[in-house]
Amino acid sequence: MTAWQQRFDARIMRSIGMPLAKLERGDGVRVWDDAGNEYLDFLAGIAVNALGHAHPVFVDAVSSQAAALAHVSNYFTTEPALELAERLTRLAGAGEHGRAWFGNSGAEANEAAFKLARLNNSGGARTRVLALVDAFHGRTMGSLALTGKPHMRDPFEPMPGGVEHIPATVEALEASLDDAVAALIVEPIQGEAGVVELPGGFLEAARELTRRHGALLIIDEIQTGAGRTGAWFGFQHAGITPDAITVAKGIGGGFPIGALVTFGETSSLFTKGQHGSTFGGNPLATAVANAVLGEIERAGLVDNAARRGDELRRRILGIGSSLVHGVRGKGLLIGVGLSEPVAGRVVAEAMRRGLIVNAANDSTIRLAPPLIIGDAEVDEFTTRFAGVLDTVASL
Ligand SMILES: *Cc1c(COP(=O)(O)O)cnc(C)c1O
Repeated sequence: MTAWQQRFDARIMRSIGMPLAKLERGDGVRVWDDAGNEYLDFLAGIAVNALGHAHPVFVDAVSSQAAALAHVSNYFTTEPALELAERLTRLAGAGEHGRAWFGNSGAEANEAAFKLARLNNSGGARTRVLALVDAFHGRTMGSLALTGKPHMRDPFEPMPGGVEHIPATVEALEASLDDAVAALIVEPIQGEAGVVELPGGFLEAARELTRRHGALLIIDEIQTGAGRTGAWFGFQHAGITPDAITVAKGIGGGFPIGALVTFGETSSLFTKGQHGSTFGGNPLATAVANAVLGEIERAGLVDNAARRGDELRRRILGIGSSLVHGVRGKGLLIGVGLSEPVAGRVVAEAMRRGLIVNAANDSTIRLAPPLIIGDAEVDEFTTRFAGVLDTVASL
């Protein structure tokens, strides 16, 4: 073990594995480790660094807001918080009644969504909450209860009650929805499960059935939001209107922030005193999110994500590697299916060649590069990735 690996091993909680490198700085789509090795970053902190690293807009927003006012508590409001609530409800199409609640992470946004679901109880008649098999909604107890991965949940049983996991099929929706369901929560693309898209017509059917039974349709846009899939939010590809969405990750471009955005009448479910978070909606986080979303809008990065994503999928298939089984996803949330369970080897070989990619599972490589990538990065990625696949295929 190197010196930093020993320090990590000695003092960091064993809930996470040994990191791939100790990083020191970043610039655009590149990061450097403590030995000066350069990497092309096609993971972006798991779909977080939407503008890449050290983008001048991000740096300026952090420093100028920190110099003005960083934190005030929920007893006060600030211009950045008001502006971000207006911006998010506008981008999500949440309508004239749309509202936002701010927290600090994805899990915290989903906790708020879980509490929202409990408030839709019709006087106690709604006890069921539906989520999907293989779903990932976070690691805190409430968001973990929504997560459809038994290996993550089992050590922490008992879970907060009432959650059922159903397969992502229209038949399962039809069989499960009734008037005892408070809410259904879904990811438009299951990122952690390996960039798995919902079957065609699923969100439309979910909308129709939840509306018929008075259940909330909550969309977890934590990984798919902020333009990543080539729309501001993943649900917009299906042309539906949900009752609530949760966002985090890319919204802050690297600054921690999460939010619950409600649509229509759902916005009046929470009443005074029912939820809160000390840091939630602080002027620093909300100013940075405004700057990041403003830059995504100004620079046309939602369209860029759609275009570069299509290019990347085409170029990856064009490599013609026997290891590539297919490509999935939308925009710049890409899953490369592998014909063998060698994702770990692909990640290690990619690191050796100066490329950061992610093993979403044993046979899927997940790509979620910054939304700012251009032709040069698509070319460089394709060349390096072809070399990686070549080496791993020959092992
Ligand atoms: C990352 C993620 C979460 C959890 O967000 P944290 O900020 O890690 O708590 C929840 N849902 C989805 C879809 C995610 O990708």
